[in-house]
Amino acid sequence: MSNVRVRYAPSPTGAPHVGNIRTAIFDYLWARHTNGTFIVRVEDTDQAREVENGLELILDSLRFLGLQWDEGPDVGGNYGPYEQSKRLHLYKQHAEELIAKGAAYYCYCTSERLEQMRKIQQARGEQTRYDYRCRYLSAEERAEHERAGEPKVVRLAVPREGKTTLSDFIHGDLTIANENVDDQVLLKSDGFPTYHLAVVVDDHLMQISHVMRGDDWIPSFPKHVLLYQAFGWEIPPHGHVPLVLGADKKKLGKRHGSTSVVQFREDGYLAEAMLNFLARLGWSLDDKSELFTRQQLIDVFTLDRIEHAPAIFDYGKLDWTNGYYIRQLSDDDLATRLMPFFEKAHLKTDHTMLRLLAPLVKERMKKMTEAVTMGDFLFVEDVEYDPQLLIGKGMDAKSALAALHAAQATLEKYPVFDDEEKVEADLRVAADQLGMKYAQFFGALRVAVTGKTVSLPLMGSMRILGREKTMRRVARAIKALEGQVL
Ligand code: GLU
Repeated sequence: MSNVRVRYAPSPTGAPHVGNIRTAIFDYLWARHTNGTFIVRVEDTDQAREVENGLELILDSLRFLGLQWDEGPDVGGNYGPYEQSKRLHLYKQHAEELIAKGAAYYCYCTSERLEQMRKIQQARGEQTRYDYRCRYLSAEERAEHERAGEPKVVRLAVPREGKTTLSDFIHGDLTIANENVDDQVLLKSDGFPTYHLAVVVDDHLMQISHVMRGDDWIPSFPKHVLLYQAFGWEIPPHGHVPLVLGADKKKLGKRHGSTSVVQFREDGYLAEAMLNFLARLGWSLDDKSELFTRQQLIDVFTLDRIEHAPAIFDYGKLDWTNGYYIRQLSDDDLATRLMPFFEKAHLKTDHTMLRLLAPLVKERMKKMTEAVTMGDFLFVEDVEYDPQLLIGKGMDAKSALAALHAAQATLEKYPVFDDEEKVEADLRVAADQLGMKYAQFFGALRVAVTGKTVSLPLMGSMRILGREKTMRRVARAIKALEGQVL
């Protein structure tokens, strides 16, 4: 094992967004590339924002993508616990250490006072920030607040002069004048830390070697750097990874389409495709390579190839990638993976049937769900459709009926439809004898058997459907047309 220790630190606020999980992919790939350790740490200190099954949604997303963590909730490790809500004593202890060092202070301001202060600042057009009132309390004043047992928070005493710099390995040096940094709350009155204190304490205690997080956290860097300095700790390399945007260059959101991995899985995207596609959002090997297996990604992934410009989420490209990976699957594997989609659609099927369907749909679909829309007719007793569809272009009820009668007579001779070529050749002969165009003849038969005007290859469909159901559907279509011809 190398010394590389990287963590994915999600907050359990809902199904992880693809932009968020993409950071987990970078963490995972870097850990595997370096033979290091991939850690999952749950940042559950903002209880108001938590959703009930938040942790499960996170772990489920990671499992789906095959991002197996080496340390974290449920697997444990030497640096646990891995849920911040179980580490409150550590944050308290560290906040007190900062107070003792003079790098932080207790603030007794009420939320009403802070609200009023903000309003005044806003009315003046000033940046809203804490006004230092409790930072310069005398010992007596402080004792007075303590005696009264007032609720208090711990704030970082940000130096009022000088500059703070972070050497970001993606963006280069980020620098800010300290006078522009607010005295951040580190520990809340309920004993919970804010993100800023918890992230620094944990990254240090867990010996994280590289910190990667979304670009949207860049404004927080001075607080973190100042905390590291106040503790006297070495700051590990930090990299802020580019945001994931929609085609309109706005943050990827629901109006663009699906945004969570869990949702993409339901939409019919394969883990392989998602992993490949997401890894390429904001990272590239060169200007041409698009397709990478998991192992190839692990082999070639390096931090210096992470881009700093925002990444655009191209849904069309994801579909293309997914179609590619679907075509790579064996029929057996595809059948296994199709099963949950058919179950969800309440279609009764089994592996053998899906194994037969697999080669028919494999080349035709970009999403697994499409196999259901294309193949559902195989797994129901009967198909529902408008009988008018049986009458194709340039036909009338009479000619459609004639086509189906001829098809029926031809198919009747076969105990099974396994020899697709022969069945088709015979049907062509029947169409010729009627002097009918193949498109018309097969069109009528297609609707009768599948209920659709466009469908999977007809001969293959009849083979899978079997003689009994096929003949019953043809007979039913004939009956429907007979009613119209009379
Ligand atoms: N909990 C933070 C988030 O979900 C973590 C950011 C970080 O990785 O430091 O955005």
